[in-house]
Amino acid sequence: MAKIKAIRGMNDILPDQSPVWQYLEQTVSGVLRNYGYQEIRMPIVEQTDLFKRSIGEVTDIVEKEMYTFEDRNGDSLTLRPEGTAGCVRAAEEHGLLFNQTRKLWYTGPMFRHERPQKGRYRQFHQIGVECFGMTGPDIDAELLMLTARLWKALGLAPHVRLEINSIGTSEARRAYREALVAYLSNYRDRLDEDSLRRLETNPLRILDSKVPETQAILQDAPDLVDYLDEESIGHFAGLKRRLELAGIEYTVNSRLVRGLDYYGRTVFEWVTDSLGAQGTVCAGGRYDGLVEQLGGKPTPAVGFAMGIERLVLMLETLELVPASVSGDADVYVMGMGEAGEAEALRISEELRDSLVQRVVVLHCGGGSFKSQMKKADRSGARYALIIGDSEVDSRTVSLKPLRSEGEQQAVSQSELAGKLAGLLAD
Ligand code: ATP
Ligand code: MG
Repeated sequence: MAKIKAIRGMNDILPDQSPVWQYLEQTVSGVLRNYGYQEIRMPIVEQTDLFKRSIGEVTDIVEKEMYTFEDRNGDSLTLRPEGTAGCVRAAEEHGLLFNQTRKLWYTGPMFRHERPQKGRYRQFHQIGVECFGMTGPDIDAELLMLTARLWKALGLAPHVRLEINSIGTSEARRAYREALVAYLSNYRDRLDEDSLRRLETNPLRILDSKVPETQAILQDAPDLVDYLDEESIGHFAGLKRRLELAGIEYTVNSRLVRGLDYYGRTVFEWVTDSLGAQGTVCAGGRYDGLVEQLGGKPTPAVGFAMGIERLVLMLETLELVPASVSGDADVYVMGMGEAGEAEALRISEELRDSLVQRVVVLHCGGGSFKSQMKKADRSGARYALIIGDSEVDSRTVSLKPLRSEGEQQAVSQSELAGKLAGLLAD
């Protein structure tokens, strides 16, 4: 019978990859903790309307990328394509936004029916941050400081750059949209198919087009900056000033817009050249209108999401994964014969009591001495412990270095934990 395979664009994260994921996730959650952000966990499935109403009907995500299905009651449900909508829904539903500020984060899988390629999958993972109740550019700046700190911690800082823009209020965008449509209408015969369609539905998204001919036409298009309202200009200036104070380099990209409807004022992306076409590793902005749009009280908000797969790819391609990040064992314990096996079981438990941070693997499944030694070697352990009848009698353990020169030696059981702690600390 043919074997059933995973769904295209949905990846297994295998045992030899998970240490890098854990390293990344732990580094990110450490930085977030450092800034006082709280974790929130939402369901993966939400009512379809939540995404339609927040992301917007005429966005790529809602038009063609959502995994939507009817459940057994006939309700239309959707696998979340992003986390902001669910986070707003949850925070609002549980009264987390009323008369207070919040700094929240979450992580988990997201689902979009896109064309799978390097750095672009149908199930992918994001770490998202959402802040509520703060109007000023101080919080926008904090998000960028937090991400800049993260790049430093991961060694990615020299490989990413920050682009920022302000897309103003919805009134400003409406005026700009008209000017942009008027301008682009003169070039209908030269626009690509997607852009032509967007001219009717979501013209700002054309600025995002990767088609060279369209980009060339856009060279002389009206600039959003000339349509910004006073307050947005002030907000943007406040953000830039704070970034300069914090020593965070940025470029203003006046063509930067986000693919989702709910953004306004500040938008930003951290981009890299080391991943080819899929260069955005972290993207976000301000979305002051969304909470109200979803039925809550007007609540200013700002957030971002970063793609874990793209960051893992970067760490791997740039060889930035620290050597200590591995799935390797530290100690591999082998018992020979009935008495030896029982003793090995007891000793490995004892070792785990004192070597809490170390990986102590007990050999299970029997086999010859030779085959057990092979497994010890393959586990990556630095030391093998061998316990046979003679060790049981003399209350010792034979300790054999696997990664360095040096003879096997007998160590008394009472000194074993201390001795190993010392050896492994080198
Ligand atoms: P892109 O322009 O690359 O399509 P996007 O604007 O759709 O990205 P967002 O919705 O802002 O992306 O998501 C934030 C981040 O999540 C992206 O910057 C990227 O790192 C990651 N991401 C988005 N879509 C995918 C995907 N299909 N596969 C892997 N990572 C993704
Ligand atoms: Mg996309």
